[in-house]
Amino acid sequence: MNTHDELERNLAQVLETIEAACRRVQRTRSEITLIAVTKMHPAAAIGAAAELGITHIGENKVQEFDSKQPEWIPLRDSHKLHAHLIGHLQSNKAARAASLFDAIDSVDSLRLAERLDAAAAALHRTLPVLIEIKLSDEEAKSGLAPQSAEIEQLLERLADLTHLNVRGLMTVPPYLRDAEAVRPYFRQLRELRETYARRYPKLQLNALSMGMTHDYAVAIEEGATEIRLGTALFGARDYGKA
Ligand SMILES: *Cc1c(COP(=O)(O)O)cnc(C)c1O
Repeated sequence: MNTHDELERNLAQVLETIEAACRRVQRTRSEITLIAVTKMHPAAAIGAAAELGITHIGENKVQEFDSKQPEWIPLRDSHKLHAHLIGHLQSNKAARAASLFDAIDSVDSLRLAERLDAAAAALHRTLPVLIEIKLSDEEAKSGLAPQSAEIEQLLERLADLTHLNVRGLMTVPPYLRDAEAVRPYFRQLRELRETYARRYPKLQLNALSMGMTHDYAVAIEEGATEIRLGTALFGARDYGKA
C-alpha cells in the first residue's frame, strides 16, 4: 500500500478524471459512485480511504474481508461505509457473505441468487445485488452469458426472491491495452440493461457497475453508475505475498 499522501494525490487525480469524463458526455458527478477496491491491501487501506471521504469499498473474497472485520466494523460505524463483494462467490459461502457485505455485486447464477435470498431472509434484511454478465468468452471469468437460458430464468425468478433488491448489472470486460477497444463491451452492458428493463418492468435495473483503473473514463462515457478502482488509488497489488 502507498502512503496517505500518495492516496490523497491519486484520489485527486481520479476525481479529476471522473469529472472530465462526465463533462464530455454531459453527466453529473453525483451519478457515479466510486468503489475503492481494497483487496490484497491491509485493512489500514480502508481507514486511509475513509479518512479521505470514500464511502464505498470493494473486496473480492469472503475470507479476506472476514479477516479485516476487527478494523472494518469500527470504521464502518464511524464513517458510514458500505462494503461490496465484487468477486465470484461460491454458493456455500452465501450466508457468510450476506452477513458481512452490504451489497453483492457479482451474482452469477440462479443457484447463488436463491442461496443469497434465503440467507438475507434469515438475517431479516434485504440485500442489494447486481447480476454479473460475461460479455466475452474468457474461460477464467465468471458471469452469466447475455443470451443464456439461465439469465432469463434468473430475471424471472427475481420477482419471487423478495429478500434481494436487484439494482442492475455488473461486468468485467477483457483487458485490452487500448481502453477505447473496451468501449463496445460497456455499450453492450448498457444496451442489455435497457433490454432487460423493458422485458422485466418490475425490476429496477438502474445500476451499471463497470470500469476499472485502466478504462473507467470510457466506462463513465458509456453510462457507468459505479466504477471499481484499486490500482488507481492504492498502487499495484503485491500478488507475490498472497
Ligand atoms: C480487482 C478488481 C477491480 C479493481 O481493479 P483495478 O484495475 O486495480 O482498478 C475491479 N473489479 C473487480 C471485479 C476486481 O476484481
